[in-house]
Amino acid sequence: MEQFEKYVSSATLREENESIKQYQNTVGLACPACDQPFDDMVVCKDEHTSLNQTIPLDICTGVEDGKPVLFTHKP
Ligand SMILES: [Zn+2]
Repeated sequence: MEQFEKYVSSATLREENESIKQYQNTVGLACPACDQPFDDMVVCKDEHTSLNQTIPLDICTGVEDGKPVLFTHKP
């Protein structure tokens, strides 16, 4: 994902735990999959990760360095 470094440097890190890093898109970055601004970017630290959603979200996906990256959109 060529924009990944820009996302990491522009978005705001909100949460990090052993399985994910979650960045909030506070600057209106466009999602690489659908070109709409996303709400959060979730970088998974392992190839396989389980996530629990607390609210329904539309999700786009990417891959960075072999790891899944999720882009969430509130419907
Ligand atoms: Zn998207």
